[in-house]
Amino acid sequence: MNDLNAASTPDLLARAAHVAEEVAGPHAAEVDRLAVFPAAAFAAVRNAGLLSMMVPVDQGGAGADLADVARAAEILARQCAATALIFAMHQIQVACLVHHGDQPVLRDLLRDVVGDKLLLGSATSESGIGGDIRRSRCALQVRGEAVTVEKDASVVSYGTDADAILLTARRTADSHSGDQVLVACRGADLEIRQAGQADMLGLRGTRSVPYRLIGRAPAGAVFEHTFDRILAETMMPYSHVLWSSVWLGLASAALAKAARFVQAGARRTGAGASVPAERLANLSATRQTMRALVEDATRAIGETAVPDRSAPRFIAQLNHLKVSVSSMAVEVVSGALMVTGTAGYRDEGEFAMGRLLRDVYGGVVMVNNDRLTATTAQLLLAVRSW
Ligand SMILES: Cc1cc2nc3c(=O)[nH]c(=O)nc-3n(C[C@H](O)[C@H](O)[C@H](O)COP(=O)(O)OP(=O)(O)OC[C@H]3O[C@@H](n4cnc5c(N)ncnc54)[C@H](O)[C@@H]3O)c2cc1C
Repeated sequence: MNDLNAASTPDLLARAAHVAEEVAGPHAAEVDRLAVFPAAAFAAVRNAGLLSMMVPVDQGGAGADLADVARAAEILARQCAATALIFAMHQIQVACLVHHGDQPVLRDLLRDVVGDKLLLGSATSESGIGGDIRRSRCALQVRGEAVTVEKDASVVSYGTDADAILLTARRTADSHSGDQVLVACRGADLEIRQAGQADMLGLRGTRSVPYRLIGRAPAGAVFEHTFDRILAETMMPYSHVLWSSVWLGLASAALAKAARFVQAGARRTGAGASVPAERLANLSATRQTMRALVEDATRAIGETAVPDRSAPRFIAQLNHLKVSVSSMAVEVVSGALMVTGTAGYRDEGEFAMGRLLRDVYGGVVMVNNDRLTATTAQLLLAVRSW
């Protein structure tokens, strides 16, 4: 274990704050304008030992828990939501490896996340199935001790900057669409070809692009646990908490601008509470609710035994978290625009809201809130005690 990895939670969060303020923030506007991977921010994230912060101490990481990682994502999102979302997506894959990757090939990959500071990406979405990640069209092809997957991935973030991608596929060519496995393909064994338009409205630094992927891996890189199980026990709950933390950080960035605007106005005029100040108070209350929801869900994950994470009530709570927090983030950022008025509507200056507004809509369309609500409505039909 090296010194960087042997860090306490306050130290890790201080490093996240340093990366956010000194690197991610100053580069955020350019990353957005050019729609490029936030390379400087990730060099700093790597150097700060943050990529392996959630890997257990006995495997060389810092042993941070989900609450710590959520705080780090929020801190990064206050400066650059694209950096924060990439950080969050990487940590979700790390959690899958830590909880489900017992085989030697997967342990080796986790070891290299620590030692070589690898960045992990994800390809669950696929052309032709919409946002329903519980189904796959592509299938694992087994040739001796190796496997191959050819996938038309409808969206993959930072695909060409990831050192390995965890992707879903049907177990065999004869399997039904819901019989899925998760396989880890290292960058050197991946052919990746852009297969559609790259330009997005917001979160442009994530480089979320359609790709044709051809991944090869040793057979031991296929997780023994079914994807269904990995999704229920780890990927879904961790995703919703970490993504929500990004939307919370983004909302906080907008709120801070709105607060500075209102406070400067009050100092200038000497007037007391105004309509914008009241609006700010309401937005602050919404942000408080967002934080409470994230913390409550994080606690619920810690308190829910792993087999119980398939229970409708647990899934509903996590789905509610994602839908509520992403919607409230839109409310806070657009409310902050109302507070700042034309100063926020301008594309430059300290109150500019444009990038935050474009980024925040990513939260509601990324795994569409309407799709999640439809799933939750179906699940709640089975809940007997309210
Ligand atoms: C910024 C960003 C980054 C992403 N990064 C990745 C990544 O790294 N890897 C990856 O695999 N994927 C990624 N995705 C894709 C994401 O995981 C979802 O697959 C994607 O958001 C699906 O959206 P969709 O609009 O294409 O499809 P859908 O979810 O199918 O939604 C399309 C429309 O259909 C409606 N709809 C469809 N089905 C239903 C239903 N059953 N009930 C109700 N409404 C329904 C929706 O409400 C919506 O209006 C990313 C997406 C975004 C926005």
